[in-house]
Amino acid sequence: MYERFYDELFESGKFAIISEMSNLRYLIGPCKIIDDDRKQEFVVTMEGDEKITCTCGLFEHLGMICRHSLKVCVPRLTTSGFIHLYETAMTLLLSVRN
Ligand SMILES: [Zn+2]
Repeated sequence: MYERFYDELFESGKFAIISEMSNLRYLIGPCKIIDDDRKQEFVVTMEGDEKITCTCGLFEHLGMICRHSLKVCVPRLTTSGFIHLYETAMTLLLSVRN
């Protein structure tokens, strides 16, 4: 679980915010397009401080915050906010596995 979260955090560095579609809604895509087949864009929507959704559906499937959502929210977090995000991600992941 710990590794998975950090994998997502590491992979988030390969993505960029392409545009802010509207208030708290962002289009996310790869920084570098290596292969057109792999070019994928996702829409991340922040709903207040407690909820963030992404069209990739990772959270809905695994309860894990995805790299696209991390790309949007990590720069906005304080250290304590990041720890809260990490703990929430771990709690959700454990509940999905159990
Ligand atoms: Zn995503």
